[in-house]
Amino acid sequence: MNIQGRPTSSVSVDMNPHQTFNGNRALQLEEPLIFETGRLDVTGVDIEAPATVVSRLGAFERKGSLGLPGLTEPEAMRHYVRLSQKNYSIDAGLYPLGSCTMKHNPRFNEAMARLPGFSDVHPLQPQSTVQGAIALIAQLSDWLLELTGMQAAAMSPKAGAHGEMCGMMAIRAALEARGEAASRKVVLVPDSAHGTNPATAAAIGFSVRAVPARSDGTVSVEAVKEALGPDVAAIMLTNPNTCGLFEPQIVEIAAAVHEAGAYFYCDGANFNAIVGKVRPGDLGVDAMHINLHKTFSTPHGGGGPGSGPVVLSERLAPFAPLPFVLKKDDGALALVEHDSEAEGAQPFGRMSAFHGQMGMFVRAYAYMLSHGGDGLKQASEDAVLNANYVRVGLRDLMSQPFGDKPCMHEALFDDEWLKGTGVTTLDFAKAMIDEGYHPMTMYFPLVVHGAMLIEPTESESRAALDLFIATLRDLAMAAKAGKVDRFTGAPFHAPRSRLDETRAARAPVLRWSAPEPVARG
Ligand SMILES: *Cc1c(COP(=O)(O)O)cnc(C)c1O
Repeated sequence: MNIQGRPTSSVSVDMNPHQTFNGNRALQLEEPLIFETGRLDVTGVDIEAPATVVSRLGAFERKGSLGLPGLTEPEAMRHYVRLSQKNYSIDAGLYPLGSCTMKHNPRFNEAMARLPGFSDVHPLQPQSTVQGAIALIAQLSDWLLELTGMQAAAMSPKAGAHGEMCGMMAIRAALEARGEAASRKVVLVPDSAHGTNPATAAAIGFSVRAVPARSDGTVSVEAVKEALGPDVAAIMLTNPNTCGLFEPQIVEIAAAVHEAGAYFYCDGANFNAIVGKVRPGDLGVDAMHINLHKTFSTPHGGGGPGSGPVVLSERLAPFAPLPFVLKKDDGALALVEHDSEAEGAQPFGRMSAFHGQMGMFVRAYAYMLSHGGDGLKQASEDAVLNANYVRVGLRDLMSQPFGDKPCMHEALFDDEWLKGTGVTTLDFAKAMIDEGYHPMTMYFPLVVHGAMLIEPTESESRAALDLFIATLRDLAMAAKAGKVDRFTGAPFHAPRSRLDETRAARAPVLRWSAPEPVARG
């Protein structure tokens, strides 16, 4: 076997008694790279080469073959269908990835996003021809402001991390306007933060000062006060935090931050737990990104397309980036693209070439409209209920790092309960794959040893949760009963078993090169 686990010769020496002759596993078919399937002497089209071609390329004419693989239509078709079947998705099954909010994307949203008036618009079209699309952006941003209790929204950021950058750039612009950008260069970030928070601060030139978490997983106002000073620009705090807990002192923290002349950036990736219940603006938040692809069910995974609008408080609203929607005197809507049209505002610049992810705006809009205010609130309540249902269903077998307390939308366990079993968090997660479950978020947040962060979301039924809990209970009891073989080496039923994930991340092979021809003698 080579590193990918593909048989390299017909006499494959493999310890796995279930290894098949050709590498296929039941109807899960092996799929070589398209370069390995295709051959240079085959083509899927049978148009004859033109008899006379007068090239006008001169010195730019191609000398050799492009080296693209030739495949027949069925071969090409099968290749891409098989690849598509290797994706695990929320449409296929429960996806309990904590912090990521993998919830059902209603088909209604998809149908709306495919309406030609939305799907076929072009960002360079004259604005008079896309008034409906602009109205949708404006209405969506109004609803986000209503749900968050904030003043202005920047709709163009393309992901949560991009939104963080947008919010922090608005903070920097506000400091510049106060003449304090040079003296306030530090951003406070709690230990438990998502990695994007310190990365964002550092990427735009701030330095990061860590705030330790309390033993109960939350941040204390005393610790924040200790870290505050005249050099602090902002704090980046996640609420509910990455341990699945609502920060109990968030109002006091906001007050202390403001008193010290700094701004409060809230990472809103966990907004799914509190929509309709709490308005971040009321807590003293100055800037917060909203992951439409988490809270408002737009599809995500595999890197996008995300959408991370940012909402800003009154103090930061003047610095919101271009473009933004303005209602003109004649009632028409305009996307303001230039400083000169900004009417007194001081936009700090722009975050992307155009206006944001239109398709995601339509989906989020459809989600909000179909739920209504009461439905959005119920979705949050159900998300919290489901997480606690899982937590309580597992708490006698699996340990919780901060005691037996209710959580918000995600249930957090540590690996204390695995001590002495010879099974690690990673082994446990891999064994879940054999049982047909995508693993939960592992080893995050970093402040919890061997963390397992489970977010079932509101879109799972009670029956689905019962089976999930029963499966995890069975695995937990097996681990405690010393059945280590079920874990180390898992997954056993997947097309690939344990991979060297560190090497895959550190030394990825991204370019195919033709194998050396084998010398035959
Ligand atoms: C997902 C997430 C982010 C980043 O959002 P992306 O859309 O993936 O860039 C930031 N913080 C937290 C807590 C998150 O869960």
